[in-house]
Amino acid sequence: MTTPRAQVRPRTEGWTQKKDADGRPLLQFASPRRGKPPAHFADLTPEQRVEKMSELGLPAFRAKQLEKHFFTHYTHDPAEMTDLPAEGREELVHTLLPPLLTEVRRLSTDRGDTIKFLWKLHDGALVESVLMRYPGRITLCVSSQAGCGMNCPFCATGQAGLTRNMSAAEIVAQVVHANRAIAEGELGDPRHVGHEGERVTNIVFMGMGEPMANYARVMHAVRVMVDKKHGMGMSARGITISTVGLVPAIRKLTNEDIPVTFALSLHAPDDELRDEMIPVNSRWKVDEALDAAYEYFAKTGRRVSIEYALIKDMNDHGWRADLLAEKLNARGRGWVHVNPIPLNPTPGSVWTASDRPVQDEFVRRLETHGIPTTIRDTRGKDIDGACGQLVATEADQEAAAATPVEA
Ligand code: SF4
Repeated sequence: MTTPRAQVRPRTEGWTQKKDADGRPLLQFASPRRGKPPAHFADLTPEQRVEKMSELGLPAFRAKQLEKHFFTHYTHDPAEMTDLPAEGREELVHTLLPPLLTEVRRLSTDRGDTIKFLWKLHDGALVESVLMRYPGRITLCVSSQAGCGMNCPFCATGQAGLTRNMSAAEIVAQVVHANRAIAEGELGDPRHVGHEGERVTNIVFMGMGEPMANYARVMHAVRVMVDKKHGMGMSARGITISTVGLVPAIRKLTNEDIPVTFALSLHAPDDELRDEMIPVNSRWKVDEALDAAYEYFAKTGRRVSIEYALIKDMNDHGWRADLLAEKLNARGRGWVHVNPIPLNPTPGSVWTASDRPVQDEFVRRLETHGIPTTIRDTRGKDIDGACGQLVATEADQEAAAATPVEA
């Protein structure tokens, strides 16, 4: 039996949480209407790409050539596509592979092992991606929406609200640009580190946005990433899709037959606190989200990750670790892994990471209950690139204003 203790209520300062007509935290599921991003070749299925060629009076194999240039050679520059007929090449490439992301800033840290990119989209919306080199893998944290409509009060992205959904091609383009940066030696010269030809191996959908709120486009992007013949040929297991618990979308994902890694950002095991920390909990409670996560494991055999931001005095109590373990074990053994993540404080916030002994105790309790637990690396901390921190700062906004959109 656990002994409930007084809740530590989330408090915000200098920011008022948007509320709906009933006075509850506002949830934005629908993307505000804005001009659509330019139609792009990567938004099409392989069949549609071939149809497009035929519409343009071109042979089907041109589709394959463009796929190679964009997904494998990471270019949308007609000058680099010498296998396409010179006549009409510029126009063809500009129509099918329009530039989607204009680079505003690139910040490098961790001795060059981490790069944060700030991108401006065609309509001026800003998004970020973070590229991280680890021993044996290169991970890119991608954004799936400009802003986020889930309104989690501890999260910098959520505080800014949802600007719009990103298109599938805008999501894929983040990977293409990252691969290009790696090929150009930006993440350490590949020849010096002995990994010529290396590229992004792992994707985590933990940048800006709630990926499950932009389901169709995120899944299209994932299909492009894993397609060996017509896309990037990445391993689905290296792709992690996270959600704060949009249960119907988790169920859809369960039936997709793409063995991605699924992560549930739980952050609290009890509804009383989670209702406040994660407003979407008012729609789907902790137990429903955990049931859906367990079904993902049961159907796919893929072990689920539970993400748990450890926030000092808010959700880091020992009894909460016990309650979490109890709820996970009630559903079975060996199906789940918990990743506590010491919170990266956002500037001006009173919330901060739990103290080290508290983190250790939280982990110890989970492990005592037989739950595999790993404190997650908070790489990118010094460039505000860790999860829940991706938000355009004032300096970013100024730099963006001075950067014309590539056309
Ligand atoms: S924690 Fe995730 S879901 Fe919540 S507001 Fe931030 S980005 Fe959105």
